[in-house]
Amino acid sequence: MTTGVVALVGSREDIHIQEVGRRLEALGVASVVVDTLTFPDETRMSLTEDLAGIRVDGRELGRPAAAYLRGLHTHPLAHGVDASEAMAEDWRTTLTVFREKATFLLGVLGRWERLGVPLYNPPSADWVLHKPVQLSALAAAGLPVPRTLWTNEPEAVRRFASGGRVAYKPVMGGAATQELLPEDLTDARLAALAASPVTFQELLPGEDIRVFVLDGEVIASLHIVTSALDFRQNEERIEQVVLPDAVARQCVRACEVLGLRWTGLDLKRGLDGELKFLELNGSPMFLGFDAGGGTDVAGHFTRTLAKHARG
Ligand code: ADP
Ligand code: MG
Ligand code: MG
Repeated sequence: MTTGVVALVGSREDIHIQEVGRRLEALGVASVVVDTLTFPDETRMSLTEDLAGIRVDGRELGRPAAAYLRGLHTHPLAHGVDASEAMAEDWRTTLTVFREKATFLLGVLGRWERLGVPLYNPPSADWVLHKPVQLSALAAAGLPVPRTLWTNEPEAVRRFASGGRVAYKPVMGGAATQELLPEDLTDARLAALAASPVTFQELLPGEDIRVFVLDGEVIASLHIVTSALDFRQNEERIEQVVLPDAVARQCVRACEVLGLRWTGLDLKRGLDGELKFLELNGSPMFLGFDAGGGTDVAGHFTRTLAKHARG
């Protein structure tokens, strides 16, 4: 039995990286943090022309047994990055440096994918994380998604809004979802679309469901009980739920369609009673759900990484 090393790609300060590292250690499996937050100023790395030629902080890592990709920190806006001083001083050089860093790190992940390292998640699935392709790829595969419009055209918004209640939110996500109201349809308000496109979506009034899928299996499903439109503003309670078989199969199918080995799916029930896919996250947080809902996503996930390491 060979024991390989699991690469944890993200910040040493990240609680998910820390928890997975601790749990792997408890299972007798070695891990290495590839600290993408402190790279390149503190963390030192070298790559050679060999696909497996990588040294991290003075240690030959080689081909890892598996990798957990938590975050690359390749943008000044990325969570945990503080580039405001550097940007104020010289934004052009700072952005160039971020681009160099991104090319290096994406290169590392691409090499591991070519080597067949089990990656949670593989960089080849990155393109599907962009919601306009993600939701339409799911729809094309016959999966239920809300009626959606991504646009910066005022007239298109007005036409869309005439079809029923509408929610709006950023194209990427991360900010609060709100209901589109009649006062939002004025010329003055819609002129803001010249600054950025926005997502407009059929408003789903039903319950919020979070499902975790790992290697083709549902490992946790939770109902987030809230009275707010966007559950992140106001989580009142998290409860485990048993998904109907058909919905569980749809969740697994959605992962297959998008090429994700693991994900946290956000679903919400529509006016018609059907659960619809809002999104699949490429690096879902899970500690809060485990703590609030009594699930064991952390355990399932680390045992899977450990299994790869034990060959
Ligand atoms: P993010 O990437 O920001 O998490 P989501 O699409 O998952 O984006 O939206 C965040 C939350 O906002 C959802 O979990 C849900 O609670 C609420 N929400 C998003 N879209 C809608 C919608 N069309 N109707 C009702 N609520 C929505
Ligand atoms: Mg979400
Ligand atoms: Mg998201």
